[in-house]
Amino acid sequence: MHAWPTPQVPELPGFPAAHPVRVHDSSTGELVEAAPGPGARLYACGITPYDATHIGHANTYVAFDLLVRAWRDAGKDVAYTSNVTDVDDPLLERAEATGVDWRELAASQTALFREDMTALGVIPPQTWTGAVESVPDVARAVAAMLESGAAYRVPLEPGAGGPTPELGDVYADLTADPRFGTVARLDREQALAYFAERGGDPDREGKKDPLDPLLWRRERPGEPAWDGGPLGTGRPGWHIECAVIARDGLGLAAGERFDVQGGGFDLLFPHHEMSTSHLRVLCPGTEGAEPAGARTHVHAGLVGYEGEKMSKSLGNLVLVSRLREEGHDPMAIRLALLAHHYRTEWEWDETSMPEGEARLVRWRDAVSGNGGPSADATLAAVRAALANDLDAPAALAAVDAWADLSLDPARDTSADEEGAPGIMARTVNALLGVRL
Ligand code: ZN
Repeated sequence: MHAWPTPQVPELPGFPAAHPVRVHDSSTGELVEAAPGPGARLYACGITPYDATHIGHANTYVAFDLLVRAWRDAGKDVAYTSNVTDVDDPLLERAEATGVDWRELAASQTALFREDMTALGVIPPQTWTGAVESVPDVARAVAAMLESGAAYRVPLEPGAGGPTPELGDVYADLTADPRFGTVARLDREQALAYFAERGGDPDREGKKDPLDPLLWRRERPGEPAWDGGPLGTGRPGWHIECAVIARDGLGLAAGERFDVQGGGFDLLFPHHEMSTSHLRVLCPGTEGAEPAGARTHVHAGLVGYEGEKMSKSLGNLVLVSRLREEGHDPMAIRLALLAHHYRTEWEWDETSMPEGEARLVRWRDAVSGNGGPSADATLAAVRAALANDLDAPAALAAVDAWADLSLDPARDTSADEEGAPGIMARTVNALLGVRL
Protein backbone atom coordinates (compact mmCIF):
# COMPACT_ATOMS: atom_id res chain seq x y z
CA MET A 1 0.00 0.00 0.00
CA HIS A 2 1.08 3.57 -0.56
CA ALA A 3 1.43 5.43 2.71
CA TRP A 4 0.77 9.12 3.04
CA PRO A 5 3.22 11.96 2.21
CA THR A 6 6.22 12.52 4.46
CA PRO A 7 6.19 15.84 6.30
CA GLN A 8 9.30 18.00 6.22
CA VAL A 9 11.34 17.55 9.37
CA PRO A 10 13.89 20.32 9.96
CA GLU A 11 17.29 19.50 11.41
CA LEU A 12 17.96 21.11 14.77
CA PRO A 13 21.01 22.78 16.28
CA GLY A 14 23.16 20.27 18.15
CA PHE A 15 22.15 17.39 15.87
CA PRO A 16 22.51 14.52 16.68
CA ALA A 17 21.10 14.77 20.20
CA ALA A 18 23.23 13.05 22.79
CA HIS A 19 20.33 11.56 24.76
CA PRO A 20 19.56 7.90 24.25
CA VAL A 21 15.76 7.60 23.91
CA ARG A 22 14.30 5.52 26.71
CA VAL A 23 10.83 3.99 26.80
CA HIS A 24 8.75 2.01 29.24
CA ASP A 25 8.82 -1.69 28.38
CA SER A 26 5.36 -3.18 28.95
CA SER A 27 6.85 -6.63 29.61
CA THR A 28 9.17 -5.68 32.45
CA GLY A 29 7.82 -2.31 33.57
CA GLU A 30 11.36 -0.94 33.20
CA LEU A 31 12.64 2.12 31.41
CA VAL A 32 14.95 0.81 28.67
CA GLU A 33 16.90 2.25 25.78
CA ALA A 34 14.48 1.99 22.87
CA ALA A 35 17.13 1.26 20.22
CA PRO A 36 20.54 0.34 21.65
CA GLY A 37 22.18 -0.22 18.23
CA PRO A 38 23.09 2.29 15.50
CA GLY A 39 19.72 1.89 13.73
CA ALA A 40 16.20 1.75 15.04
CA ARG A 41 13.45 -0.58 13.89
CA LEU A 42 9.80 -0.10 14.79
CA TYR A 43 6.68 -2.07 14.05
CA ALA A 44 3.47 -0.35 15.10
CA CYS A 45 0.26 -2.28 14.60
CA GLY A 46 -2.08 -0.54 12.20
CA ILE A 47 -5.81 -0.07 12.10
CA THR A 48 -8.63 -2.35 11.09
CA PRO A 49 -10.28 0.13 8.73
CA TYR A 50 -13.90 0.33 9.87
CA ASP A 51 -13.96 3.24 12.33
CA ALA A 52 -10.96 5.35 11.34
CA THR A 53 -9.60 7.58 12.66
CA HIS A 54 -10.87 8.13 16.14
CA ILE A 55 -8.94 10.09 18.72
CA GLY A 56 -7.73 6.85 20.33
CA HIS A 57 -6.07 5.75 17.07
CA ALA A 58 -4.62 9.23 16.58
CA ASN A 59 -3.22 9.17 20.12
CA THR A 60 -1.40 5.89 19.42
CA TYR A 61 0.12 6.95 16.08
CA VAL A 62 1.13 10.37 17.37
CA ALA A 63 2.88 8.61 20.30
CA PHE A 64 4.92 6.41 17.96
CA ASP A 65 5.55 9.43 15.75
CA LEU A 66 7.25 11.06 18.75
CA LEU A 67 9.47 8.01 19.04
CA VAL A 68 10.39 8.17 15.35
CA ARG A 69 11.14 11.90 15.65
CA ALA A 70 13.25 11.47 18.79
CA TRP A 71 15.20 8.65 17.15
CA ARG A 72 15.80 10.72 14.02
CA ASP A 73 16.97 13.65 16.09
CA ALA A 74 19.37 11.26 17.85
CA GLY A 75 20.85 10.41 14.43
CA LYS A 76 19.28 6.96 14.12
CA ASP A 77 18.53 5.45 10.78
CA VAL A 78 14.88 4.58 11.41
CA ALA A 79 13.06 1.68 9.75
CA TYR A 80 9.34 1.74 10.40
CA THR A 81 6.76 -0.79 9.26
CA SER A 82 3.03 -0.88 9.86
CA ASN A 83 0.01 -2.70 8.52
CA VAL A 84 -3.65 -2.28 7.71
CA THR A 85 -5.87 -5.20 8.68
CA ASP A 86 -8.06 -4.76 5.63
CA VAL A 87 -9.78 -8.09 6.01
CA ASP A 88 -10.83 -9.40 9.42
CA ASP A 89 -13.94 -10.39 11.36
CA PRO A 90 -14.85 -6.95 12.78
CA LEU A 91 -14.53 -5.33 9.34
CA LEU A 92 -16.70 -8.01 7.71
CA GLU A 93 -19.27 -7.74 10.50
CA ARG A 94 -19.45 -3.96 10.10
CA ALA A 95 -19.80 -4.29 6.31
CA GLU A 96 -22.59 -6.82 6.73
CA ALA A 97 -24.39 -4.69 9.33
CA THR A 98 -24.26 -1.54 7.21
CA GLY A 99 -24.84 -3.17 3.82
CA VAL A 100 -21.56 -1.83 2.41
CA ASP A 101 -19.19 -4.03 0.43
CA TRP A 102 -16.28 -4.88 2.77
CA ARG A 103 -13.73 -3.79 0.15
CA GLU A 104 -15.38 -0.38 -0.18
CA LEU A 105 -15.56 0.02 3.58
CA ALA A 106 -11.88 -0.87 3.96
CA ALA A 107 -10.79 1.37 1.06
CA SER A 108 -12.79 4.39 2.24
CA GLN A 109 -11.65 4.11 5.86
CA THR A 110 -8.04 3.53 4.83
CA ALA A 111 -8.19 6.65 2.65
CA LEU A 112 -9.61 8.63 5.54
CA PHE A 113 -6.87 7.35 7.84
CA ARG A 114 -4.24 8.43 5.31
CA GLU A 115 -5.74 11.94 5.17
CA ASP A 116 -5.94 12.17 8.95
CA MET A 117 -2.31 11.07 9.39
CA THR A 118 -1.21 13.62 6.78
CA ALA A 119 -3.15 16.38 8.52
CA LEU A 120 -1.71 15.42 11.91
CA GLY A 121 1.83 15.52 10.52
CA VAL A 122 2.61 11.89 11.33
CA ILE A 123 5.75 10.58 9.61
CA PRO A 124 4.59 7.57 7.54
CA PRO A 125 6.06 4.07 7.81
CA GLN A 126 8.40 3.18 4.95
CA THR A 127 6.55 -0.10 4.58
CA TRP A 128 2.79 -0.08 4.95
CA THR A 129 1.27 -3.43 4.09
CA GLY A 130 -2.35 -4.51 3.90
CA ALA A 131 -3.54 -7.88 5.14
CA VAL A 132 -4.96 -8.65 1.70
CA GLU A 133 -1.66 -8.01 -0.09
CA SER A 134 0.19 -10.14 2.48
CA VAL A 135 -2.01 -13.23 1.95
CA PRO A 136 0.50 -15.24 -0.16
CA ASP A 137 3.33 -14.57 2.33
CA VAL A 138 1.16 -15.47 5.30
CA ALA A 139 -0.07 -18.64 3.61
CA ARG A 140 3.53 -19.72 3.01
CA ALA A 141 4.42 -19.01 6.65
CA VAL A 142 1.45 -20.99 7.93
CA ALA A 143 2.27 -23.90 5.62
CA ALA A 144 5.82 -23.89 6.99
CA MET A 145 4.49 -23.94 10.56
CA LEU A 146 2.25 -26.90 9.69
CA GLU A 147 5.17 -28.72 8.19
CA SER A 148 7.42 -28.17 11.20
CA GLY A 149 4.72 -29.30 13.64
CA ALA A 150 4.21 -25.80 15.13
CA ALA A 151 0.64 -25.72 13.81
CA TYR A 152 -2.24 -28.15 13.33
CA ARG A 153 -5.56 -28.44 11.56
CA VAL A 154 -8.94 -28.32 13.27
CA PRO A 155 -11.88 -29.93 11.43
CA LEU A 156 -14.55 -27.66 9.96
CA GLU A 157 -18.28 -27.58 10.55
CA PRO A 158 -20.44 -28.81 7.66
CA GLY A 159 -20.70 -26.33 4.80
CA ALA A 160 -17.30 -24.72 5.41
CA GLY A 161 -14.13 -25.09 3.40
CA GLY A 162 -15.43 -24.58 -0.16
CA PRO A 163 -14.14 -27.25 -2.55
CA THR A 164 -11.79 -28.80 0.03
CA PRO A 165 -13.77 -29.18 3.27
CA GLU A 166 -11.37 -31.87 4.46
CA LEU A 167 -8.65 -29.25 5.05
CA GLY A 168 -9.40 -27.66 8.41
CA ASP A 169 -8.72 -24.27 9.93
CA VAL A 170 -5.10 -23.99 11.05
CA TYR A 171 -4.10 -23.11 14.62
CA ALA A 172 -0.71 -22.47 16.18
CA ASP A 173 0.43 -25.07 18.69
CA LEU A 174 1.73 -22.85 21.47
CA THR A 175 3.76 -25.69 22.99
CA ALA A 176 6.13 -25.24 20.01
CA ASP A 177 7.30 -21.98 21.64
CA PRO A 178 8.58 -22.47 25.18
CA ARG A 179 8.83 -18.70 25.62
CA PHE A 180 5.14 -18.10 25.05
CA GLY A 181 3.81 -15.82 27.78
CA THR A 182 6.95 -13.70 28.24
CA VAL A 183 5.49 -10.58 26.59
CA ALA A 184 2.42 -9.87 28.74
CA ARG A 185 3.37 -12.17 31.65
CA LEU A 186 -0.20 -12.97 32.57
CA ASP A 187 -1.40 -15.88 34.65
CA ARG A 188 -3.47 -18.47 32.85
CA GLU A 189 -6.81 -17.23 34.13
CA GLN A 190 -6.17 -13.64 33.07
CA ALA A 191 -4.82 -14.77 29.71
CA LEU A 192 -7.96 -16.82 29.03
CA ALA A 193 -10.20 -13.92 30.03
CA TYR A 194 -8.44 -11.44 27.68
CA PHE A 195 -8.33 -14.02 24.90
CA ALA A 196 -12.11 -14.48 25.07
CA GLU A 197 -12.71 -10.73 25.35
CA ARG A 198 -10.39 -9.64 22.53
CA GLY A 199 -11.30 -11.76 19.53
CA GLY A 200 -9.97 -15.19 20.60
CA ASP A 201 -11.96 -18.41 20.47
CA PRO A 202 -11.11 -20.40 23.61
CA ASP A 203 -14.21 -22.61 23.19
CA ARG A 204 -13.53 -23.76 19.64
CA GLU A 205 -13.81 -27.51 19.62
CA GLY A 206 -10.82 -29.55 18.50
CA LYS A 207 -8.07 -27.18 19.64
CA LYS A 208 -5.20 -28.63 21.66
CA ASP A 209 -5.21 -25.68 24.03
CA PRO A 210 -7.96 -23.07 24.43
CA LEU A 211 -5.34 -20.31 23.92
CA ASP A 212 -3.99 -21.65 20.61
CA PRO A 213 -4.59 -18.83 18.10
CA LEU A 214 -6.03 -19.06 14.60
CA LEU A 215 -3.48 -18.89 11.78
CA TRP A 216 -5.61 -19.62 8.73
CA ARG A 217 -9.38 -19.47 8.57
CA ARG A 218 -10.81 -21.66 5.86
CA GLU A 219 -13.39 -20.39 3.45
CA ARG A 220 -16.91 -19.91 4.88
CA PRO A 221 -20.09 -19.22 2.89
CA GLY A 222 -20.37 -15.48 2.23
CA GLU A 223 -16.83 -14.67 3.41
CA PRO A 224 -13.94 -13.62 1.18
CA ALA A 225 -11.28 -16.27 0.65
CA TRP A 226 -7.94 -16.55 -1.16
CA ASP A 227 -5.98 -19.45 -2.54
CA GLY A 228 -3.81 -20.74 0.29
CA GLY A 229 -2.06 -23.50 -1.69
CA PRO A 230 -1.76 -26.54 0.59
CA LEU A 231 -3.85 -24.78 3.26
CA GLY A 232 -6.92 -24.59 1.03
CA THR A 233 -8.91 -21.44 0.37
CA GLY A 234 -9.24 -19.01 3.29
CA ARG A 235 -7.80 -15.94 4.94
CA PRO A 236 -5.11 -15.17 7.51
CA GLY A 237 -5.49 -14.84 11.25
CA TRP A 238 -4.65 -11.43 12.68
CA HIS A 239 -1.58 -12.28 14.77
CA ILE A 240 0.25 -14.18 12.03
CA GLU A 241 -0.52 -11.32 9.63
CA CYS A 242 1.39 -8.88 11.82
CA ALA A 243 4.24 -11.35 12.43
CA VAL A 244 4.79 -11.87 8.69
CA ILE A 245 4.41 -8.18 7.78
CA ALA A 246 6.87 -7.19 10.53
CA ARG A 247 9.36 -9.87 9.43
CA ASP A 248 9.20 -8.90 5.77
CA GLY A 249 8.80 -5.14 6.21
CA LEU A 250 11.73 -4.85 8.59
CA GLY A 251 13.76 -7.44 6.69
CA LEU A 252 14.37 -9.66 9.71
CA ALA A 253 16.84 -12.47 9.17
CA ALA A 254 16.61 -15.70 11.15
CA GLY A 255 16.91 -15.01 14.85
CA GLU A 256 17.15 -11.28 14.30
CA ARG A 257 15.41 -8.99 16.74
CA PHE A 258 13.95 -5.57 16.15
CA ASP A 259 13.66 -2.73 18.59
CA VAL A 260 10.08 -1.82 19.38
CA GLN A 261 6.69 -3.33 18.74
CA GLY A 262 3.95 -0.90 19.59
CA GLY A 263 0.24 -0.33 19.64
CA GLY A 264 -2.63 0.54 21.90
CA PHE A 265 -2.60 -1.03 25.34
CA ASP A 266 -5.34 -3.53 24.45
CA LEU A 267 -2.95 -5.15 21.95
CA LEU A 268 -0.54 -6.38 24.64
CA PHE A 269 -2.50 -9.60 24.99
CA PRO A 270 -3.29 -11.62 23.04
CA HIS A 271 -2.14 -9.77 19.91
CA HIS A 272 1.48 -8.95 20.74
CA GLU A 273 2.00 -12.09 22.78
CA MET A 274 0.83 -14.22 19.85
CA SER A 275 2.54 -12.31 17.05
CA THR A 276 5.84 -12.39 18.95
CA SER A 277 5.45 -16.10 19.51
CA HIS A 278 4.84 -16.62 15.78
CA LEU A 279 7.97 -14.60 14.95
CA ARG A 280 10.07 -16.78 17.25
CA VAL A 281 8.73 -19.89 15.52
CA LEU A 282 9.13 -18.42 12.01
CA CYS A 283 12.62 -16.94 12.51
CA PRO A 284 14.36 -19.19 15.03
CA GLY A 285 17.86 -18.08 15.92
CA THR A 286 20.86 -20.12 16.80
CA GLU A 287 21.00 -22.01 20.07
CA GLY A 288 21.56 -19.77 23.06
CA ALA A 289 20.96 -16.55 21.12
CA GLU A 290 18.22 -14.10 22.10
CA PRO A 291 14.97 -15.18 20.45
CA ALA A 292 13.45 -13.29 17.51
CA GLY A 293 10.74 -10.69 17.98
CA ALA A 294 10.71 -7.21 19.46
CA ARG A 295 13.25 -6.31 22.10
CA THR A 296 10.79 -3.94 23.73
CA HIS A 297 7.01 -3.66 23.73
CA VAL A 298 5.53 -0.19 24.06
CA HIS A 299 1.84 0.54 24.54
CA ALA A 300 -0.24 3.68 24.42
CA GLY A 301 -3.04 4.22 26.92
CA LEU A 302 -6.61 4.09 25.70
CA VAL A 303 -8.56 7.30 25.31
CA GLY A 304 -12.11 7.31 26.66
CA TYR A 305 -15.08 9.53 26.01
CA GLU A 306 -18.06 10.14 28.25
CA GLY A 307 -16.97 7.52 30.74
CA GLU A 308 -16.45 4.68 28.25
CA LYS A 309 -13.79 3.28 26.00
CA MET A 310 -14.25 4.89 22.59
CA SER A 311 -15.91 2.43 20.24
CA LYS A 312 -18.24 2.52 17.30
CA SER A 313 -20.63 0.05 18.94
CA LEU A 314 -21.10 2.49 21.83
CA GLY A 315 -21.58 5.35 19.35
CA ASN A 316 -19.12 7.55 21.21
CA LEU A 317 -16.39 8.04 18.60
CA VAL A 318 -14.58 11.34 18.31
CA LEU A 319 -13.27 11.25 14.75
CA VAL A 320 -10.27 13.27 13.59
CA SER A 321 -11.98 13.80 10.23
CA ARG A 322 -15.06 15.26 11.93
CA LEU A 323 -12.96 17.64 14.02
CA ARG A 324 -11.21 18.73 10.83
CA GLU A 325 -14.54 19.24 9.07
CA GLU A 326 -15.67 21.40 11.97
CA GLY A 327 -12.72 23.63 11.18
CA HIS A 328 -10.33 22.67 13.95
CA ASP A 329 -6.67 23.06 13.05
CA PRO A 330 -5.08 19.58 12.97
CA MET A 331 -2.11 21.04 14.85
CA ALA A 332 -4.45 21.96 17.70
CA ILE A 333 -5.79 18.39 17.67
CA ARG A 334 -2.20 17.18 17.89
CA LEU A 335 -1.49 19.52 20.81
CA ALA A 336 -4.65 18.29 22.57
CA LEU A 337 -3.27 14.74 22.32
CA LEU A 338 0.26 15.69 23.37
CA ALA A 339 -1.09 17.29 26.56
CA HIS A 340 -1.38 13.71 27.92
CA HIS A 341 1.47 11.29 28.44
CA TYR A 342 1.06 8.49 25.91
CA ARG A 343 0.86 5.79 28.57
CA THR A 344 -1.91 7.38 30.61
CA GLU A 345 -5.56 6.53 30.15
CA TRP A 346 -7.52 9.71 29.77
CA GLU A 347 -10.81 11.05 28.51
CA TRP A 348 -11.41 13.37 25.62
CA ASP A 349 -13.83 16.05 26.84
CA GLU A 350 -15.13 19.49 25.93
CA THR A 351 -11.98 21.16 27.25
CA SER A 352 -9.57 19.13 25.06
CA MET A 353 -10.01 21.03 21.80
CA PRO A 354 -10.15 24.58 23.26
CA GLU A 355 -6.98 23.89 25.27
CA GLY A 356 -5.15 22.64 22.21
CA GLU A 357 -6.33 25.64 20.22
CA ALA A 358 -5.35 28.16 22.90
CA ARG A 359 -1.87 26.67 23.12
CA LEU A 360 -1.44 26.74 19.35
CA VAL A 361 -2.45 30.40 19.15
CA ARG A 362 -0.08 31.31 21.98
CA TRP A 363 2.86 29.43 20.49
CA ARG A 364 2.25 30.97 17.05
CA ASP A 365 2.19 34.40 18.64
CA ALA A 366 5.38 33.71 20.54
CA VAL A 367 7.39 32.68 17.45
CA SER A 368 6.10 35.47 15.23
CA GLY A 369 8.89 37.97 16.01
CA ASN A 370 12.44 38.09 14.66
CA GLY A 371 14.10 38.16 18.05
CA GLY A 372 13.26 36.59 21.38
CA PRO A 373 14.63 34.85 24.44
CA SER A 374 17.25 32.19 23.73
CA ALA A 375 15.73 28.87 22.66
CA ASP A 376 18.76 26.76 23.61
CA ALA A 377 17.65 25.66 27.06
CA THR A 378 14.12 24.95 25.82
CA LEU A 379 15.41 22.83 22.94
CA ALA A 380 17.51 20.87 25.44
CA ALA A 381 14.50 20.47 27.75
CA VAL A 382 12.25 19.22 24.93
CA ARG A 383 14.91 16.73 23.86
CA ALA A 384 15.36 15.52 27.43
CA ALA A 385 11.61 15.19 27.96
CA LEU A 386 11.14 13.05 24.85
CA ALA A 387 14.18 10.92 25.69
CA ASN A 388 12.52 10.19 29.02
CA ASP A 389 9.71 7.88 27.87
CA LEU A 390 8.33 10.37 25.31
CA ASP A 391 7.15 12.76 27.99
CA ALA A 392 5.18 15.14 25.78
CA PRO A 393 3.48 17.02 28.65
CA ALA A 394 6.93 17.95 30.03
CA ALA A 395 8.00 19.06 26.54
CA LEU A 396 4.85 21.18 26.20
CA ALA A 397 5.51 22.76 29.62
CA ALA A 398 9.03 23.74 28.51
CA VAL A 399 7.72 25.39 25.33
CA ASP A 400 4.91 27.07 27.31
CA ALA A 401 7.50 28.59 29.65
CA TRP A 402 9.47 29.95 26.68
CA ALA A 403 6.28 31.32 25.09
CA ASP A 404 5.25 32.97 28.37
CA LEU A 405 8.62 34.66 28.63
CA SER A 406 8.63 35.64 24.99
CA LEU A 407 5.17 37.24 25.25
CA ASP A 408 5.82 38.97 28.59
CA PRO A 409 5.78 42.72 27.79
CA ALA A 410 7.71 43.51 30.99
CA ARG A 411 10.68 41.25 30.32
CA ASP A 412 14.20 42.49 29.75
CA THR A 413 14.84 42.19 26.01
CA SER A 414 18.52 43.15 26.12
CA ALA A 415 19.62 39.52 25.86
CA ASP A 416 17.22 38.64 23.04
CA GLU A 417 18.65 36.59 20.24
CA GLU A 418 17.84 37.11 16.62
CA GLY A 419 16.55 33.86 15.18
CA ALA A 420 15.53 32.38 18.53
CA PRO A 421 11.82 32.24 17.60
CA GLY A 422 12.80 30.41 14.42
CA ILE A 423 14.79 27.83 16.39
CA MET A 424 11.79 27.40 18.69
CA ALA A 425 9.44 26.87 15.75
CA ARG A 426 11.83 24.31 14.24
CA THR A 427 12.14 22.53 17.59
CA VAL A 428 8.38 22.24 17.93
CA ASN A 429 8.06 21.11 14.33
CA ALA A 430 10.89 18.54 14.32
CA LEU A 431 10.37 17.00 17.74
CA LEU A 432 6.67 17.43 18.49
CA GLY A 433 5.39 17.43 14.91
CA VAL A 434 3.55 20.71 15.42
CA ARG A 435 3.86 23.14 12.50
CA LEU A 436 3.59 26.69 13.75
ZN1 ZN B 1 -0.50 -6.09 14.89
